[in-house]
Amino acid sequence: MEYGDRPEPSPGVGQVTIRIHSAALNHLDLWVREGWPGLKLPLPHIPGADGAGEIASLGEGVTDWQIGDRVVINANLGCGKCHFCLAGQDNRCADWHLLGETIQGTYAEFVSVPARNLFKLPIEFAFTSAAAAGLVYHTAWHSLITRGNLRAGETILIVGASGGVNTACIAIAKFSGARVIVVGSSKGKLAIADSLGADVLIDRSREEDWSKSVHQATGRKGVDLVVDNVGTTFPLSMKSARKGARILTVGNTGGAKFEIDNRYIFSKHLSIIGSTMGTIKDFHEVMSLVCGGKIRVAVDSTFPLSEARRAQERLQNGEQLGKIALVT
Ligand SMILES: [Zn+2]
Repeated sequence: MEYGDRPEPSPGVGQVTIRIHSAALNHLDLWVREGWPGLKLPLPHIPGADGAGEIASLGEGVTDWQIGDRVVINANLGCGKCHFCLAGQDNRCADWHLLGETIQGTYAEFVSVPARNLFKLPIEFAFTSAAAAGLVYHTAWHSLITRGNLRAGETILIVGASGGVNTACIAIAKFSGARVIVVGSSKGKLAIADSLGADVLIDRSREEDWSKSVHQATGRKGVDLVVDNVGTTFPLSMKSARKGARILTVGNTGGAKFEIDNRYIFSKHLSIIGSTMGTIKDFHEVMSLVCGGKIRVAVDSTFPLSEARRAQERLQNGEQLGKIALVT
């Protein structure tokens, strides 16, 4: 990855160009950099899904925004025309793209996006917090609230303490009135879960079968929901679940393939609910709460845009506690 000059983009029809003040990092950025079979990108590629800044110019047909408006970008680029998009399920779009994945992203001074992908920020809300919230809070909200139907009073287990989506899940679950149990890989990683209000902390470096502690913490009942974005931890997640529980997944930081014992699924009446990213409605709902100060955002550190490489190294080494952001 190199820092250098690229032509300034101009907005197409229905688009705006944003002057980026802050971009946030996601694991996705590392995967895109490494590439995968079938991913063919015109190089040089600009990574980055998350960004917040000011509108610098308006494309043809854009009437509801003004130059200088402070905005955060929804990285999900649905076509706006297919039956999924028209039904409000744009994250299932037939021609779906993600900013920074197949489209030039936000590790830049300027980026052009469709105007419908913007959320207006209040004057006092920090660009860094807005960028940091973007993708992970959107994804977590869709998984927990829209798909998982999390309700006040339920007990939720979150496997993983410090990554972007997991910290967003902790913050959203606390806002929703749930009791939150977090399994983390070290005392240091659990500290951030603690600061976001998690009720029970379990250090998995001290106990291999942490489902026992989950049962202890729930009076032997098990939890109503599990957030498992690790994957390889599914066997223990299923053990920790009560009968009829929902297991939510939006990723697999531990690897894509693992074995599960099918008997847990049917004998415990488990629902496994997968999703990826979120809808335009989800984005507006969660960003309204974030900007209103109702849901906290954990920012680990900021780097100048020119040091994006060092920022990615921090992410790759798993040193972060919360989101890493770039500032321009
Ligand atoms: Zn579509």
